[in-house]
Amino acid sequence: MAPDIRDSWHDLISPQLRRNPNAFRQAKRVAAFDVAMFIWVIVFACVYLTLGAPICASIVLFAGVVLIVILLSINRGESPLLCGHLFCATGWIVYTALAYFNGGAGTSPTMWYASIPVLSLFLCGTRPAIFWTASSVLAIAGFSLLSLWGIECPVELTPNGQRLIQFAGVAGLVSCVFLLVWVLINMEQNARQALHDANSRLEQQASTDGLTGIANRRCFDSVLAQEWGRHQRLQSPLSLLVIDADFFKNYNDAYGHLAGDDCLRSIASVIQSCLRRPGDLVARIGGEEFAVVLPGTSEHGACMIADEIRLQISALKIQHPRSAVGHHMTISVGVATAIPATGEPYLSFVEVADGALYCAKERGRDCIVQATPSIPVAR
Ligand code: GH3
Ligand code: MG
Ligand code: MG
Repeated sequence: MAPDIRDSWHDLISPQLRRNPNAFRQAKRVAAFDVAMFIWVIVFACVYLTLGAPICASIVLFAGVVLIVILLSINRGESPLLCGHLFCATGWIVYTALAYFNGGAGTSPTMWYASIPVLSLFLCGTRPAIFWTASSVLAIAGFSLLSLWGIECPVELTPNGQRLIQFAGVAGLVSCVFLLVWVLINMEQNARQALHDANSRLEQQASTDGLTGIANRRCFDSVLAQEWGRHQRLQSPLSLLVIDADFFKNYNDAYGHLAGDDCLRSIASVIQSCLRRPGDLVARIGGEEFAVVLPGTSEHGACMIADEIRLQISALKIQHPRSAVGHHMTISVGVATAIPATGEPYLSFVEVADGALYCAKERGRDCIVQATPSIPVAR
């Protein structure tokens, strides 16, 4: 397969930049503009040489040397922001010098200043853009003052040459307007994307349990409410397991809270590994209490899964010397299954499963109790 161009681009960039996606994006912009301006330099150096304007040609060639330095700096991993500033400074100096040697105020090279706000906004951000725009306005004002005071700037170009550069100036102005529109659209899209990403991250964090990485109580409530409504419409069985670690307070007392946290993480991952259907959800709904939502699952299926979870957790053989049930960590499970009756709130379903868990604790723990009557849940 042909290598991806973006990959080969990637290889050119220093490892520091590759590790930082924001800086990498910024560096790509500076480099892209750098290459575009370099082409501009080559074209205009030839034009000025042909028109017999050696000072203007050397000014443009000076810009070319600085652009190469900027490219090398980016490649060495220098700050892309600094390179952006250097780029804008070079543009400002070159435009000012070209305007000076072409007659100063009102001449075509002053039109090129229009590109400075676009470049600085895209390469350095809003505040530097204000700075460089103000600098450009000051330079144009300076030329106007010079002509007001009767100080004539030298004119290197012949009248024909001036017309050609004038034409290039207008073309440059038009492309700058398009570029500005493009930059603004791009910035808006980036801002939208950043907002969307931040919202998704926030949503993900708001529905995840920080300790175990599985869903939290908030997520459980919303998923169960949704499934409850869906099963009400479908009139199919929905099952809920409420799982509680036995004598967990004693475990904490014996091994400390950190070991307790590790144990909760192991329990969460075992439960997760026992769930195979895409709609199944495991959540941590309390300190050492977990819940599993099993859509479209009958009593029989729910009990099978509950038993598999119980056996798998026993099989972990997490030492628990202070358990009254055995020598290792065990769980008790309350199972409830319902074809939701119309108008029945989902919280009553949780109460039923909780009741079953309570019975499991009463019966001596390390067991599963199925709520009865279970289908349908009715008061
Ligand atoms: P039972 O068998 O009746 O469920 O007894 P238990 O000790 O497991 O239940 P109890 O409700 O008396 O105590 C629960 C303990 O769970 C209390 C607390 O020390 C522990 N716990 C709650 N949240 C966390 C947590 O986030 N990390 C740790 N390590 N322990 C927790
Ligand atoms: Mg417990
Ligand atoms: Mg508990």
